Amino acid sequence: MMAQPRPEAPADRCEPVPCSTHAWCVIQGRHEDHASAPTRAGAGRGGLLDALVLASGADAPTVGFLDLDLSPAELRQQCRDLRAHLDKVEALADALDAADRGGERP
Ligand SMILES: [Zn+2]
Repeated sequence: MMAQPRPEAPADRCEPVPCSTHAWCVIQGRHEDHASAPTRAGAGRGGLLDALVLASGADAPTVGFLDLDLSPAELRQQCRDLRAHLDKVEALADALDAADRGGERP
């Protein structure tokens, strides 16, 4: 009797296989470098403020942000610094509005 072709098991099909190492990783299939989905400032805009979790091999995961690889503590400090900076940036708008009302430029 000739061997019959074996029915294809579900795992043999080309279905995406989620990452088995990190729950936050969005890369599917076999891979060594892991990445989360990026967080972006503003809908559909990518760029300078994009942030995502990254890990390579057995290295501890970091967050890629502002062209830096940051630990959780470093990321929190970076966020504190940016919040303080954004207050100063927004104050420029207030200064400009005030100058427009008074006829002066900051
Ligand atoms: Zn992964």
